[in-house]
Amino acid sequence: MKKNIITEISEDEKKYEASLRPQSFDEYYGQESLKDKLKVYVTAAKQRGSVLDHILFYGPPGLGKTTISYIIGRELGANIIQTSGPALERPADLASLLSSLSRGDVLFIDEIHRLKKNIEEILYPAMEDYKLDVFSGLDVDTGRKSIRIDIPQFTLIAATTKAGSISAPLRDRFGIVEKLDFYNEEEIRKIINRSSKVLNVEIEPDAEVEIAKRSRGTPRIANRLLKRIRDFAEVKFNGIISKHVATSVLDELDVDKCGLDANDRTYLLTIIEKFGGGPVGVDTLATALGEDNETIEDIYEPYLIARGLVNRTRSGRVVTNEAYVHLDLSH
Ligand code: ADP
Repeated sequence: MKKNIITEISEDEKKYEASLRPQSFDEYYGQESLKDKLKVYVTAAKQRGSVLDHILFYGPPGLGKTTISYIIGRELGANIIQTSGPALERPADLASLLSSLSRGDVLFIDEIHRLKKNIEEILYPAMEDYKLDVFSGLDVDTGRKSIRIDIPQFTLIAATTKAGSISAPLRDRFGIVEKLDFYNEEEIRKIINRSSKVLNVEIEPDAEVEIAKRSRGTPRIANRLLKRIRDFAEVKFNGIISKHVATSVLDELDVDKCGLDANDRTYLLTIIEKFGGGPVGVDTLATALGEDNETIEDIYEPYLIARGLVNRTRSGRVVTNEAYVHLDLSH
C-alpha cells in the first residue's frame, strides 16, 4: 500500500505539527466531555496540592493524545518529560528517568503498548507507591538483590493506539482511562481555521468546510492537508485558499469526498473483489494487502468502521452497503 499519511512523520512535519499545537484547553477544540472531566481533575489536584492520578489515553493516531497531555502538564504548571515505549530499551533507561523526576512532574510515555515486559514491571511499584527497585548486588541464595527506594510523586500520562494490548496489571494502575474519538466536521473546521491563523494564510470559509469533510475526523490529517493546499495556493494562485484551490489539490491527492484515500479504497475493494464482500479474517486480509495486522486494525479500520463502511464481526471483516454505495458499485 502507499505511504501512510497518518503515521509516517518526517522531522519537518514534526516541527510543523509542533508549531500548530494548541497550548490550552480553550484552543483545543472538540473532545468536550473529556476536556470537562480533565479540567475538574486538574483543578481538584491543584486545590488539594496533590499529584494528579495517572492517566491513560487511547484512540487512533492523530486525534490529539499528545497534545492534550501537554496541555494537562501546562495547566498543572508541571515539567513534562516525554519518552515512548520503543525508546525505552533497557530497564535502566526507565529507572534513570524515574529517579530524575521532581515532585509533581508529568512523565509522558507514548506508544506504551510497546513497552517491554521487564520494563513495564518497573512501572508497577513506581505508579502505585512511588517506589523503585534498585539492583544492589548479587545474593548468594536468591540471585539478584535489590533495595526499594522512594521516588518523588509524579503523574504518568500514557498514550496508545492499542488499548487491547495493554496488560491488565498496567491498565489497572491508571486512575483515569479515557478514549479519544474522531472529531465532527465543525470541530475539524475550527481546527483548520485556527491553524490558518497561526500559519498566517488566508482561507475562505467554504474551503475550510471542504477540507474538514475530507480530513477523516482527524486533526493531524486536517493540518497536513492544509499544509499541502497552502503550498499549492502560494505557488499557483495568489496565496488565498479558495474552495476551488482546496478541491483541486484534494482531488490531486486522491482524497475523496469522505476523506478516504487510495489505501482505504484498496482495502474496501480487496474485500469486495477478492473475498466477495467478506467476512474475511484480518490475517488473510493483511496478506492480501501486503500490510501488517496492526496497521490495518489501528490505522485503517477505526475510521472505516466509524463511517459505517466496514463491520468487524466474529467471522471477520464485512463491508457494508454504504461501502458499495460510496464506491459506486452495485452488489
Ligand atoms: P496523537 O498523539 O493522538 O497521535 P497529536 O496530539 O500529536 O495526536 O495531534 C496531532 C496534531 O493535531 C497536532 O499537531 C495538534 O496540533 C493537532 N491537534 C490534535 N488535537 C487537536 C485539537 N483538539 N485541537 C486543535 N489541534 C489539535
